[in-house]
Amino acid sequence: MTFSELVIQYEIAIRLIFFLGIFGLMAWWESRAPRRPLSLPRAVRWSNNLGLVFLNTLTLRLLFPAAAVGVAAFAAERGWGLLNYYPVPFAWAVVISVVAMDLVIYLQHVLVHAVPALWRLHRVHHADLDYDVTTGARFHPIEIILSMLIKFATIVVLGPPLVAVILFEVILNAMAMFNHGNVGLPGWLDRIVRLLFVTPDMHRVHHSVEDNEANSNFGFNLAIWDRLFGTYIAQPRAGHRGMTIGIHRYRQPKWATWLPGMLALPFVGRISGYAINRREWSKPDDGDPP
Ligand SMILES: [Zn+2]
Ligand SMILES: [Zn+2]
Repeated sequence: MTFSELVIQYEIAIRLIFFLGIFGLMAWWESRAPRRPLSLPRAVRWSNNLGLVFLNTLTLRLLFPAAAVGVAAFAAERGWGLLNYYPVPFAWAVVISVVAMDLVIYLQHVLVHAVPALWRLHRVHHADLDYDVTTGARFHPIEIILSMLIKFATIVVLGPPLVAVILFEVILNAMAMFNHGNVGLPGWLDRIVRLLFVTPDMHRVHHSVEDNEANSNFGFNLAIWDRLFGTYIAQPRAGHRGMTIGIHRYRQPKWATWLPGMLALPFVGRISGYAINRREWSKPDDGDPP
């Protein structure tokens, strides 16, 4: 058995260990030093948000049993992708791959905010009325499938080493739980860390109900993309404790909290002018409630 085969075989175990480890750590941190008081009971939100995570995991396993690692192995066997075509030292290939995949994730995130139909899917992530470790994994199954297809395309073009693909997925997963945490780093530390990496305070701005704040800070791992592309906002106007989390409409628990409503959310309301070119915040608009 080669190293690649071994990694593919134990991919689920590797991901599960990191998921449970970071999840437990963040849950502990949130209970010790919460950044904001939660507006809804934790048990209700967690059971519904994690129910969605379970559904998404099942969907991906059924649709794409080989997952991104399988596609990377397939591309490597055939010599597809830039890094298979122009080999560079292994360590460089890993770094280039992780950074390139992070840029694609950033651009994808901008895209789902910009295109009205895709915003309908992505607003399931934003409709959460609170912001904590479970928000980080709360995405509509169709958006999860779309993400996976974009990832497959990226891998075929890039030809990253298998290890880089797994490393990136583990980092993305861990960082999503970290930067959605209802926690805060001390001010001085946050300012240093966010020069390079996204912090909980930085990404929380993105979950503001205010349109211009929600249309900023799209990064999940590296903080450089937002600064480079001009989508960076340092702090929410109302402050971290005073800001409102969620989207303007669809604040009833039926849509914002309960799993059946979350699954139906992309398909309700009219197409709105929220998405493209909307950087104002005086006139709420993310579709009429049904
Ligand atoms: Zn978003
Ligand atoms: Zn988020």
